[in-house]
Amino acid sequence: MRNFEYHCQTNIMMGNGQSKEIGSIVEDLVLPGAKVMIVTDSGVRNAGLVQPIEAYLQEAGYSVFVFDQVSPNPRDNECLAGAELFRKEQASAVIAIGGGSPMDTAKAIALLGPNGGIPEDYKSGKKAYANLSPLICIPTTAGTGSEVTRSSVITLAASHKKITLKHALLRPTIAILDPALTLTVPKSITAATGVDALVHAIEGYSCKVTNPISKAMGASAMETIVKYLPAAYKDGSDLEARYKMQEGSLLAGLCFGSADVAAVHCLAEALGSLYDTPHGIANAVFLPYVMQFNAAENKVLHAELAKIMSFADKTDSDDVAIQKLIDGMYTFTKNLGIPVLKDLSYVKEEDFEKMAELAEQNGSTSSNVRTVTKADYLDILKAAFDQ
Ligand code: NAD
Repeated sequence: MRNFEYHCQTNIMMGNGQSKEIGSIVEDLVLPGAKVMIVTDSGVRNAGLVQPIEAYLQEAGYSVFVFDQVSPNPRDNECLAGAELFRKEQASAVIAIGGGSPMDTAKAIALLGPNGGIPEDYKSGKKAYANLSPLICIPTTAGTGSEVTRSSVITLAASHKKITLKHALLRPTIAILDPALTLTVPKSITAATGVDALVHAIEGYSCKVTNPISKAMGASAMETIVKYLPAAYKDGSDLEARYKMQEGSLLAGLCFGSADVAAVHCLAEALGSLYDTPHGIANAVFLPYVMQFNAAENKVLHAELAKIMSFADKTDSDDVAIQKLIDGMYTFTKNLGIPVLKDLSYVKEEDFEKMAELAEQNGSTSSNVRTVTKADYLDILKAAFDQ
């Protein structure tokens, strides 16, 4: 038994076509006539998702400008450029349209725009999280859950290190989930982002700092994602599967958002910071191997995970269920066309030492259900590479 807190002040609105209501939704935050800043990226813009929302805002009387200089795995210099523009244009609110990269950048702009400084000032405690701009997040992938989390993951361009700003005030004011906006997500990104959401649910459910609310959200997210991700991958125009995947990713965000992620994410962020590997793929390549490592000391928990995700039968022994979980997870990601570590030709074995070190330094290492050291991370990396 341990004490816990659960927070989520974000007002969540979900439905097909919900983003069309943006004009009246934003009125809850700023009056018509105000200037609002849209943060997005070129891929989302080219998919035609930004212009209609811009038009709904203009029809409602808002003046709109767009910042789209956001890379996948967004950089600190992009956040600073966005913050500069926020100040120059005297924006009254920030609206993110995109996946985790635009949403995390928008969180940083909502912080840095009004308050100045650089991301590390807030990470180190030199500056306080206060006086943030109102922020609306409209996710266009089903993966990160950033629309309801307190985190903004930023890569420092100079060192290539990923840092996570984490504070309750970074949770968006409003999240608008419109699954129709995910219909254009390409197949490989559907797979990678979906697995990212699944890992959030697994790690949020099983980490050391989990709580009963996170567990309830995580169990529901795992069931939903395992059922609907293959359908969304097979047929991207299946709106029911897209809807359920956004629901699953939202629940997964609510799961880990007041708990934590763990070793899979620590390794994924290390891989992403060295090679810019898409976040979901970076998670998937380590998932079965971290599960194997964790299950050795947490059999009941991992048998439970196997049963929640229907990889094992309710009557299976713990050992049988765990084996089915590891085999099932491997096959699940393989069927989604996700590569294994060795398929990533740019990954060099001589970088494993550095990756293990970065993973160990990650703040979520201490949340992993089994104590994990740099040497353990090295073993997991080798196992994933040699499989
Ligand atoms: P992403 O935002 O980087 O997008 C990946 C690609 O998909 C981009 O090229 C983008 O243009 C394209 N795309 C997005 N939506 C599309 C659509 N509807 N149609 C067509 N193309 C579309 O990917 P992501 O996986 O959503 O986000 C990854 C980032 O989120 C990483 O930086 C990761 O570290 C971070 N992250 C943050 C949290 C958090 O809680 N803040 C959690 C997990 C991951």
